[in-house]
Amino acid sequence: MLTQVHLLLTYMCNSECDHCFVYCSPAAKGTFTLQRLRHVMEDAAAVETVEWVYFEGGEPFLFYPLMVEGMRIARDKGLRTGMVTNAYWATSEEDAALWLQPLSQLGLADLSISDDPYHYEKRDDNPARRAFAAAKSMGMAASVISIEKPSVATAESGGRGKGMPIVGGNTRFRGRAVQKLAEGLPGRPWRDFAECPYEDLREPKRVHIDPYGHVHVCQGLLMGNVFEQPLSQIEKDYLPDSHPICGPLLRGGPAALAEEYGFVHRGDGDYIDACHLCYLDRLSLLERFPHCLAPRQVYGLG
Ligand code: SF4
Ligand code: SF4
Repeated sequence: MLTQVHLLLTYMCNSECDHCFVYCSPAAKGTFTLQRLRHVMEDAAAVETVEWVYFEGGEPFLFYPLMVEGMRIARDKGLRTGMVTNAYWATSEEDAALWLQPLSQLGLADLSISDDPYHYEKRDDNPARRAFAAAKSMGMAASVISIEKPSVATAESGGRGKGMPIVGGNTRFRGRAVQKLAEGLPGRPWRDFAECPYEDLREPKRVHIDPYGHVHVCQGLLMGNVFEQPLSQIEKDYLPDSHPICGPLLRGGPAALAEEYGFVHRGDGDYIDACHLCYLDRLSLLERFPHCLAPRQVYGLG
């Protein structure tokens, strides 16, 4: 029962954060056209259970007129709207209000602003703080997304037992985080990761749709393409247990996916978290399952 559609309006971003799941950057390709946006909104609205559309990326404010038009279409279709931004545009609180006013008038129901040390080293005054203050003073519903950088702590219990090093913080090790942040951090044995802890792969309530039409159940893990089939049909046809990647993940997490396809482990067979193993499993399967694992750019390729 899908209730939320999150549109990756663009893979382009003014930033290039080390932890970015989908390898966004100023040079990243892939942005919705208005025609494609209309198509996807039509499709989303045709799924009776969908209530929300989120605009995110990449950085959706880079394509401000398209984003505003998307909100207008969503409103006309009776959908609630949310937005995720790094607020690079908030040069002052007063200026931030200029950017927010049209969104407020269109009934934006949830503004999520990234504000953490990955995005802004300066913690007391930064664009995210200014945007948040402006939104609040305008009576808008706003919240902050904060991802902590990884830190090494000592386990009090767990797979390797008391006293062993574990990685703290809420960074998830997929996408660019694997390339940029994994080096030198302690891992756990691959067999420890016997479930997906974060996504409901059996009955997804939320999917991400990118400018190529890919419908992601987790970033880079697909259930279909809205430019080949309507979203309602994709949802109806989705058989999670028979899906070549979701099936093994449901049966036994990233460890089962590795076993099913004979994944060759790194030297010590240790991984920082479930996503780390899952992401590397999937990276090794890209050529074999191109319809389930795409686009290549979210795997740091091409
Ligand atoms: S994490 Fe957000 S702000 Fe950072 S590069 Fe990715 S989309 Fe841009
Ligand atoms: S374990 Fe895999 S499917 Fe689950 S959230 Fe992590 S990367 Fe996504």
